[in-house]
Amino acid sequence: MTAQLIDGAAVARQVREDVAKGVAELLAAGGTAPGLATVLIGHDPASEVYIRNKRRACTTAGMADLHQHLPADVDQATAAALIDQLAADPAVSGILLQLPTPGHLDSEELLSRIPDGKDVDGLTVANAGLLAQGRSGLRPCTPSGVIALLDHHDVPLSGAEAVVVGRSVLVGKPMAQLLLERHATVTICHSRTRDLAAVCRRADVLVVAAGIPGLIGPDAVKPGATVIDVGIHRGETGLHGDVDTAAVAEVAARITPVPGGVGPMTIAMLLANTLTAARRQQGLVDGA
Ligand code: NAD
Repeated sequence: MTAQLIDGAAVARQVREDVAKGVAELLAAGGTAPGLATVLIGHDPASEVYIRNKRRACTTAGMADLHQHLPADVDQATAAALIDQLAADPAVSGILLQLPTPGHLDSEELLSRIPDGKDVDGLTVANAGLLAQGRSGLRPCTPSGVIALLDHHDVPLSGAEAVVVGRSVLVGKPMAQLLLERHATVTICHSRTRDLAAVCRRADVLVVAAGIPGLIGPDAVKPGATVIDVGIHRGETGLHGDVDTAAVAEVAARITPVPGGVGPMTIAMLLANTLTAARRQQGLVDGA
């Protein structure tokens, strides 16, 4: 079997176009353009690239780019004061604190200052709690992008066996909760899971977010499964994921490539969250 490649770039483009339409509708209804405040602290090269892409996508969708950059040696109180200022600013619909922050800062404390309604990364304790309880809130971008990809390809989730490899707060845990919300039977694997391949072979839908290049090979994949590779690793020959894509494509029915799979969806869902946040703040019914 040679798997169908799931084209994340194409689905992300569609989401971004829908968001741009939503922004135009918001303006036509007398609202104001959503504003996204990305906050970068220091000069981590990967973070600079991510932030640049997020800012570009934001303006392309018709949103205001309200980016803030703080020096690497900024103290906690100054960074906290900036978040508080953005939290109080009505022009700011969403705040995204780019992680990781420099080691001397307490990023959890900074995140806790972001109002739940402006938490477009879905990382505050309140939004995580709403997700855990299956209640409406802003969802983390990467896992909600994975759900959008699965939906776009009509992958059945209700009653399906879903296995998530990784249990991070950013990806693995919310991914498992979103799959559970869609009535999948969910198993979470992590660094202490015994016989990872055997557990993964149960999956109709396998989502891999372990941060280990090539962790998942064909021995860990059920024939006909849908395999979503969240991992991103920069190697000498370009970007790679956590899945041995070429070998697994011989077993799976569908697979996301790296690059061009989950990555583009993360930014698209950030824009969707920012539009949702702006609509709610402006008292308009959330159509997202
Ligand atoms: P993380 O390091 O915070 O978490 C990794 C998880 O994998 C942990 O829960 C750990 O228990 C588990 N793990 C580690 N070794 C394992 C093993 N041998 N077997 C099973 N589980 C194991 O990483 P993260 O933030 O969740 O990110 C995971 C990957 O996804 C990274 O490569 C990251 O770069 C990538 N990522 C991509 C996007 C995107 O937009 N595509 C977004 C976020 C993260």
